[in-house]
Amino acid sequence: MDYREVTGKREFVARLGHGADWRSEIESLAEDEGVESAWFVAMGAVQDADVWFYDQDEKEYREVSFDEPLEVASCVGNVSLLDGEPFAHTHAVLSRQSGQALAGHLDSATVFAGEVYMRTFEEPLVREHDEPTELDLWL
Ligand code: ZN
Repeated sequence: MDYREVTGKREFVARLGHGADWRSEIESLAEDEGVESAWFVAMGAVQDADVWFYDQDEKEYREVSFDEPLEVASCVGNVSLLDGEPFAHTHAVLSRQSGQALAGHLDSATVFAGEVYMRTFEEPLVREHDEPTELDLWL
């Protein structure tokens, strides 16, 4: 384990734009406000979603696409720098009309409506390629 103390800096609430991409909206907020590290929670609804699952044996993401209205029952993530740009690592639990849940690493989704709370940190977080996992993890 690698850890560090962080200091909370700024707080934002945001309403995501109808028809925009869920993760891009969060990254736009970070970019516009010069945020290099943050934690966020969000909720709302999307019109479709591309959810990724990381295959730990093949060390590749597998994508699953859903082209249907979904509730964002829960969404949690963080912002850190990847190749010098703010990257919103985003996970979500989505639910169908039946109440059945789908979940995973949220790559993209078209916003129907969304609300975000973001807490930024003084200390930047930077991602770099990690050998054992072949993921971009915090330094
Ligand atoms: Zn993930």
